[in-house]
Amino acid sequence: MVRDYRGRPLRDLRISLTDRCNMRCRYCMPREHFKSHNFLDKDQILSYEELLLVVESLMPLGLTKVRLTGGEPLLRKDVCSFIEMLPEELDIAMTTNGILLERFAQKLSDAGLHRVTVSLDALDIETFQAMGDTKEKPETVLRGIEAARKAGLEVKVNTVIRAGYNEHSVQRVADRFLGTDVIVRFIEFMDVGATNGWDNQDVITGEMMRTMIADLEQLEPNHVGEVANRYVRGSQEIGFIESISKPFCGDCNRARISADGSLYTCLFTNKGNDLKSLIRMNATQENLAAAVTSIWSKRDDAYSQNRGKVETEKLEMSFIGG
Ligand code: SAM
Ligand code: SF4
Ligand code: SF4
Repeated sequence: MVRDYRGRPLRDLRISLTDRCNMRCRYCMPREHFKSHNFLDKDQILSYEELLLVVESLMPLGLTKVRLTGGEPLLRKDVCSFIEMLPEELDIAMTTNGILLERFAQKLSDAGLHRVTVSLDALDIETFQAMGDTKEKPETVLRGIEAARKAGLEVKVNTVIRAGYNEHSVQRVADRFLGTDVIVRFIEFMDVGATNGWDNQDVITGEMMRTMIADLEQLEPNHVGEVANRYVRGSQEIGFIESISKPFCGDCNRARISADGSLYTCLFTNKGNDLKSLIRMNATQENLAAAVTSIWSKRDDAYSQNRGKVETEKLEMSFIGG
């Protein structure tokens, strides 16, 4: 098993299947910045066979979990055929905005997906459309969530809270899923990328959010590297991802691969490691494993812990994979 400079293993690979999206969330892909954006062409993107080679070469290094993300992963053609190709022993999850989920849920489950995290920032149409800069409706996402549950997928909901936009979603989204098996997780607005105009004043911390829900009791983490601080009220589990106020770099075991085949060892780095060139020079599984071992062993990333002390030029989350 490979460990980085700080002793952290490589357990989780987040695969950005595409840098494109059918929403324009203000905190992620502000429309004005993406109007004339050059999205990746098909030949720049790793094929499913190439991605599988990366996944298989990371398994002997300790990889146990793969998360399909983007951009919007359900926009990638034949995504179910890729899920079918993935080794069964992996924990296979997806993060999606849920717009296309109703149509895909059963096929995703049949293909071997285990879990889906659905982003949903508001239940009222005004806030949903303002945050997502979209004409889509929250009901579409709710129908997707229902379809995913019916298809036997484990479902979590991710809600980003941004000051001045959707503080009211803390209570409303938590209440909406009370009495169901859906775990809701509230996320602090993060300073990822360079276009979302992040300001510390826009952050509602997990601690502030917890004052908006009565009777919460803290739970122990499920596993090392858990990103959410877990709470319960009665039988409902609610998580808080507090990357700004309570950074969790200490146990971070996540690598990311962009759709164009660069490996990133932190969400906030701009330094990718070009695996696509290696793959397209016919690298074997062993060659890739050796390259990633060398990259991971030198990894010293802890951006969130050092926030404000070191400034880097950051890449967009829709590109690097959320
Ligand atoms: N399009 C899919 C979706 O929205 O679920 C997958 C990709 S998206 C980049 C992954 C997650 O990142 C989403 O839950 C989204 O809300 C979250 N996210 C994006 N930008 C963020 C930001 N600035 N701060 C906090 N979370 C953010
Ligand atoms: Fe698209 Fe997801 Fe980013 Fe929203 S958060 S713009 S849905 S990639
Ligand atoms: Fe991991 Fe980087 Fe996030 Fe820290 S800032 S938890 S190292 S991705």
